[in-house]
Amino acid sequence: MTSQRTRNRMVDRLRDRGIESEAVLATLATVPRHLFVDEAMATRAYEDDALPIGDGQTISQPYVVARMTEVLLEQGPVGKVLEVGTGSGYQAAILSQLVDQVYTVERIKNLLDKARHRFRALEYRNVQARHSDGSWGWATNGPYEAIIVTAAPTSVPEPLLEQLQIGGRMIVPVGNQKRQQMLTVITRTRCGYERVELSDVKFVPFLSGKF
Ligand code: SAH
Repeated sequence: MTSQRTRNRMVDRLRDRGIESEAVLATLATVPRHLFVDEAMATRAYEDDALPIGDGQTISQPYVVARMTEVLLEQGPVGKVLEVGTGSGYQAAILSQLVDQVYTVERIKNLLDKARHRFRALEYRNVQARHSDGSWGWATNGPYEAIIVTAAPTSVPEPLLEQLQIGGRMIVPVGNQKRQQMLTVITRTRCGYERVELSDVKFVPFLSGKF
């Protein structure tokens, strides 16, 4: 249930569903998603579903991870990426194979500790993780060529917009838990920000403030 063959079958299904980037598909074929969920869930790790990771949070569905990664990288190679919402660390691990450096922030310490342990054990050395409220971004390493937000804010926090490099793009699900959330791509131009809405999605809420 956690073999390379199972993982390859997941990748075939993602290709059938419309993921086109061979680099992204090849990365999903190598990163062991079953090591990013609790052992009890490991046999379900290669189904195309979100799964609980504790603390009321979820690891995103493989299709959503693949699609967001593909969109983030479709303009060409990316050096530095900021991820908000480390969770299990799976999305960061995928990105680490496709960009130079991943910075990721998570507000729940318990999840962050587990993710850090995975990055070390699996030797994803170009991932730096920090316990913080992602509303502030991570200014010291910015600006970023790409920002990915994996929890849904009702509106995009200003510091994240500021930490996006000119020409850079952010992918973020915008909305609340009651109404639909819209997966949105924001590109920073010399004169401002351009927004393109992609599709309806369902993410856990982006929480700000005390943690
Ligand atoms: N990318 C993750 C998905 C985890 S779910 C993965 O691959 O597993 C989203 C995560 O965002 C949750 O762990 C949640 O705690 C975190 N989160 C929500 N609001 C946040 C904020 N303001 N700052 C940092 N992390 C946040």
